[in-house]
Amino acid sequence: MELARTVAEVRQAVGEARRRGHVIGLVPTMGALHEGHASLIRRAVNETGFAVVSIFVNPLQFGPNEDFASYPRTLDDDLAMCRTLGVNLVFHPAEREMYPKPPKTFVEVEGLGDHLCGASRPGHFRGVATVVTKLFHIVQPDVAYFGQKDAQQAAIIKRMVEDLNMPVTVEVCPTVREADGLAVSSRNRYLNADERQAATVLYRALRAAHDAVARGEKDPDRLRQIMRDVIAAEPLARVDYAEIVDAETMQPLQRLEGKALAAVAAYIGRARLIDNIILPTTGDNSQVGSG
Ligand code: AMP
Repeated sequence: MELARTVAEVRQAVGEARRRGHVIGLVPTMGALHEGHASLIRRAVNETGFAVVSIFVNPLQFGPNEDFASYPRTLDDDLAMCRTLGVNLVFHPAEREMYPKPPKTFVEVEGLGDHLCGASRPGHFRGVATVVTKLFHIVQPDVAYFGQKDAQQAAIIKRMVEDLNMPVTVEVCPTVREADGLAVSSRNRYLNADERQAATVLYRALRAAHDAVARGEKDPDRLRQIMRDVIAAEPLARVDYAEIVDAETMQPLQRLEGKALAAVAAYIGRARLIDNIILPTTGDNSQVGSG
């Protein structure tokens, strides 16, 4: 496994792999790698001939009062995991390598970031779309892997790739969960034992909405209320949003139709945690836990 810290090193390594005829896979991450990341990396290793993992805590996607400075950075463990999983190249640039000058050019995907995390984190998805565009230009992957855990991010990247004819296939992988349903996340490290227990409330809220739909509930407002009530019953949690949106456009639904997503965000201790599930179409339970 190679470790590249510069754009030039990446271009060289990927260029060679391509000349050898390999399909290039990319898994963009912010490090502090866990089983969720591992599921994406395994797919990249299995499905492409040259798997690249980028590890970069992107300042552009953090707000001024967010956790950029304290975000976990665990490079040695991350490299060990990548090596074990059979990654070919890790790209771990310094901030000045990615942003040698204060950027003047940004990628904005209109509308899809108006609600959910985009509403509580202004500028976040502009930062995400911009850094992913840069990573796509640097690595030039054939396939890029994202997690359904960040459903709004995945929808935005898919739309960006479509709108801008980026020559990359976007694969969205199911959410990996702990045994009690909590979605695995780098930010789960912020939780103490009580908060970790309380954090199961996100998945419990989503399941409550899911089960209500399976029982015939069709009113998105009642589903929003069901999720809010579940979260309100957990004293250590404070709801940010509890929404029912269209899974592609990320717009709040007035009626349950098409592919509907239940999505929640809550503050627990110093962590802000998010989760989502696809709601079943009436009478269909097959999508439980599929992310
Ligand atoms: P991050 O390092 O948080 O930026 O995440 C990097 C990628 O891993 C993103 O595409 C995430 O959606 C994905 N990811 C994070 N947590 C999970 C999880 N629990 N299951 C599946 N994918 C995940």
